[in-house]
Amino acid sequence: MLRKRLLVSTMNLLLVGGFGILAQAPEALAKDAAKAAAPLANNPFATASTLPFQAPPFDKIKDADYQPAFEAGMREHLAEIAKIAAQKDAPTFANTIVPLERSGQMLTRVYVAFNAVTGADTNDTLQKVQEVVAPKLAEHQDAIYLDDKLFARVGKLYEGREKLGLDAEQKRLVERYYDNFVRAGAKLGEADKAKLRELNKEESTLTTDFANKLLAANNAGALVVDDKKDLAGFSDADIAAAAADAKAAKKDGKYLIALQNTTQQPAQVSLENRSVRERLFKASTSRAEHGDANDTRAIVQRLAVLRADRAKLLGYPDFAAYTLDDQMAKTPANAIKLMTDMVPAATAKARGEATKMQALIDKGTDKFKLSPWDWQRYAEQVRKAEYDLDEAQIKPYFEIDRVLHDGVFYAANQLYGLTFKERKDIPVYNPEVRVFEVFDADGKSLALFYADYWKRESKRGGAWMDNLVGQSRLLGTKPVVYNVCNFTKPAAGQPALITHDDVNTMFHEFGHALHGMFADSEYPTLSGTNVPRDFVEFPSQFNEHWGRDPKVFANYAKHYQTGAPMPAELVAKLDKTRTYGQGFATTEYLAAALLDMAWHTQPAGTPKQDVDAFETKALKQYKVDMPEVPPRYRTSYFAHIWGGGYAAGYYAYLWSEVLDHDAFYWFREHGGMTRENGQRFRDMILSRGSTQDMAALYRAFRGRDPSVEPLLEERGLK
Ligand SMILES: [Zn+2]
Repeated sequence: MLRKRLLVSTMNLLLVGGFGILAQAPEALAKDAAKAAAPLANNPFATASTLPFQAPPFDKIKDADYQPAFEAGMREHLAEIAKIAAQKDAPTFANTIVPLERSGQMLTRVYVAFNAVTGADTNDTLQKVQEVVAPKLAEHQDAIYLDDKLFARVGKLYEGREKLGLDAEQKRLVERYYDNFVRAGAKLGEADKAKLRELNKEESTLTTDFANKLLAANNAGALVVDDKKDLAGFSDADIAAAAADAKAAKKDGKYLIALQNTTQQPAQVSLENRSVRERLFKASTSRAEHGDANDTRAIVQRLAVLRADRAKLLGYPDFAAYTLDDQMAKTPANAIKLMTDMVPAATAKARGEATKMQALIDKGTDKFKLSPWDWQRYAEQVRKAEYDLDEAQIKPYFEIDRVLHDGVFYAANQLYGLTFKERKDIPVYNPEVRVFEVFDADGKSLALFYADYWKRESKRGGAWMDNLVGQSRLLGTKPVVYNVCNFTKPAAGQPALITHDDVNTMFHEFGHALHGMFADSEYPTLSGTNVPRDFVEFPSQFNEHWGRDPKVFANYAKHYQTGAPMPAELVAKLDKTRTYGQGFATTEYLAAALLDMAWHTQPAGTPKQDVDAFETKALKQYKVDMPEVPPRYRTSYFAHIWGGGYAAGYYAYLWSEVLDHDAFYWFREHGGMTRENGQRFRDMILSRGSTQDMAALYRAFRGRDPSVEPLLEERGLK
C-alpha cells in the first residue's frame, strides 16, 4: 500500500508561539497590544466557543471574521508573551513554560478553523486572507522565537532542568521549547536574525502561493472530452459524473475528468482510447508547467535556494539535515539509505510487471510499446488475467456508510471499545461534513469526529487529518478532530460506492484521528499528533491493517443492494492480489521521496536549478528513472514539499511504514485483534503524543527496535 496521504499539523508551532507583526521589543508591543486588544465586536473567535467540546461555531463564522480575528489574536498573544518575558522573578516552569502553553488561545481558535476551511472549502476571499496572513504568522512566530529575554528564561530552565523537580513530561517539554527556540534561530546574532526573519516571511508567502496556484492548476488541468465515445470503458455512473462535473464547470454537453493530485490518474484504468489516456497523462504531468499564472516552477526554484540559505544560517549543511535533526531518522543519510536499499528490489519488481503488460499488449491486434499512460490500464488487465479480479466486481461491496460504521468504527470498537453517535446539531463548514460524538469504552464522551469525504472544487487534493481542538488537561480541552478525503462523489441517485483504495484511505485517516482522540497529555505542545513527521504516519498506516482483517472485512464488505457478504472466492482473490502492483507503487513512491531529498540536500550557494532538468538528473542519480514509472508527484505539483509540511519529509511515510508493519506483527504474535492488545497499543503509543522520545516509546511497546523485515514481506519485496 502506498502512502500518499497528507497530514498537515502546524498546531504545535502555533501553540508555542506568537506571531509577531513587528520586530519591536515585547515591552513596547505589550502597550500597543493592550490598547489594541479591545474586544472584537461580534467576532465568533473573540471568546471560547460555547458549543460542546468548544467546537468552532461554523454557523456564525463568516469569511470576513478571519482576518480581524488573526490580527487581534496575534496582538493578544504577543501581549501574553511580553508579560512572560518581562517578569522580574527568576524563571520557573510555572511562571514561564505553563503560561507559554496557555498563551495564544484566540489565535489558535482562528487558526485551526481557518486551516480547516482553507484546506477543504476555500474560495477567492479566503485565499486572499491567506496570502495576507501567512507572512504575518511567520513574522509573529519569529517575534517570539527570536525574543532574547524569553529565550534567556527558557535557556535557564533548560540548563537546570535536572534539578527542578520536574516530572518526565515537564522535562521533555522544557527540552522541546529549548530545541524549538534554537532551531528557530534564537542563538543567532542580530544581523542573522534579521536575515532569518526575511527568509521565513518569504517562504511562507511562497508556500501559500504554491498551494493556491496548484489548486487553480489542478482545476484548470481537468481533461475536457467532447465526445462521449471517447469515454469508452467508463461505467454509466462514471459518464454521468463526468457530465455533471462538466456542467458544474460551465461546459454543458461535454465531459470532464478532474485531476487527482498524483501523476497517475484512476480514470486511466478504464479509458479504452489510448490517445485519450495519453492526453490525460499529459494534462496531469504538465498541469503546473504551462508558463501561465499557475506555473509553479519559479516558486520551486526560489524555495530550494531559500531553504538551503536558511539551513546554512542555522548551522546545517543543507535543509534536509536541518529538518531531520529532530526527527526519528536523525540524518538525511539514514532516510536515504532506507530508500536506496529498496530501489533494486522495487525497480526489478516493476520491470517484471512491465514485462507482463507488454506481453499482453503484444497479444492484441494493436501493438505498441508500453507507455506511462498505459500502465494503470494494463496493470489492471494483468491483474484480471492472473487473478481473475476486476475492480468493478468488488466495488458494489464498498458502500461508504457501511464501510464507515461497520468497518472503520467497528474496528475501533473491537480494539478500543469505542462507540459513535452522529450529531446533527454541531455546525459544519460545508453541508457535506458529518459529525460524530465518540464514546469511550466506559461510556464517557471522548471526542468529536468530523468526516468530510467527497471531492469538491473548493477542496485541495489528497486526504488528511487535523484537529479543530487539541487535547490538553492543562487547558481542560478534549479533542475535536477531522478527516478530509477526495472520494469521487456519485451522481445524484447513484449508490455511494467507493474504491478499495478509498477504503484504505478511510482507515488510514481514521488512524490519525485515533491518535488525536486518544491523546492524554497535560500540555498541548506534546499532545496527540504533535510528534515527529516520520512517526506521525505510524498510527495511520497501522490502522489500515484492520481494514484487511478478515473479521472486520466480513463485517463491512457487503453488497449494497442485497447486503450479502462478499463471496469467499472473491475475498480470496482480493487477498491474493494484495502485493500485486507493489513494484510500481514502491518505485513511484521512492522516486518522489528521493526527488524531495535531492532538492533539499543542495548546499547553500547552489545556483537556481532548471526544474525539469534537475528532476531528470536526480531520478537518474538514484536509479529510479524508469520512463514507464514516473514519480508519484513531479516537482512542479509536489504539494507535500512545496505547499505542505513535508519538505525533506516525504520519506516519512516509508519510515513510519517500517513501524506500522512491525507493530502489526506484534499483534499477530500476541493473539491479533483483542481489546487487551488494543488497550496496550493505546496506552503505550496512541495516547502518548510526544511525551517521550519516539524511539524509546516504540522500543517499550515492541520490546526491541523496529525491524524492516515485515515491511519487505508485506510489500512482496523479499
Ligand atoms: Zn497520513
